[in-house]
Amino acid sequence: MSSPHRPLDRRSGLVLDTHELGRRAGAMKQIQTSVDAPADLGIAVIGVPPGSPVELDLRLESVVEGVLVTGTATVALVGECVRCLTEISDEMEIDVQELFVYPGSEATEDEASRLEGDLIDLEPLLRDGVVLDLPFQPLCRDDCQGLCIECGANLNDDPEHTHEQSIDPRWERLAALGDVRPDDAESAQG
Ligand SMILES: [Zn+2]
Ligand SMILES: [Zn+2]
Repeated sequence: MSSPHRPLDRRSGLVLDTHELGRRAGAMKQIQTSVDAPADLGIAVIGVPPGSPVELDLRLESVVEGVLVTGTATVALVGECVRCLTEISDEMEIDVQELFVYPGSEATEDEASRLEGDLIDLEPLLRDGVVLDLPFQPLCRDDCQGLCIECGANLNDDPEHTHEQSIDPRWERLAALGDVRPDDAESAQG
């Protein structure tokens, strides 16, 4: 059966050529380079900016079944704090440890990563590594105070922030959730 994938793009920095390993078990190659991040690497609230540098520090080692890739990929992250909406910049290191099996080699599961000719594609690994490790509720800091529910002021900048007439505490939690407002509730009752 032929591979369902489209051919790999050699110009992508995440496609590595293993040709010089020559399929000699034990042959090794060190790769330290910076490549451009692909698009759509992340989730809605936080992700890797497209085109930002991905630092690869990898060892390619030829083994009997294929090429073993170990090392790290370091990416930049940009997102937004879910409490105070401040921009977050961060960095993330992804551990890479993957065996790419030679095309046509037997005794491996269908899901195994495979070489295509001499090429290996790091992009699926990078996607899995990034997406699985991303915080689904990114915070600018663990104790972020968020925004004032009445006026939207950033409470991290102004911890003493208060209003003359405080909101009815019974509604405070609901208002914070954003789905019920005191006005709505009163008119519903009347
Ligand atoms: Zn925050
Ligand atoms: Zn306020």
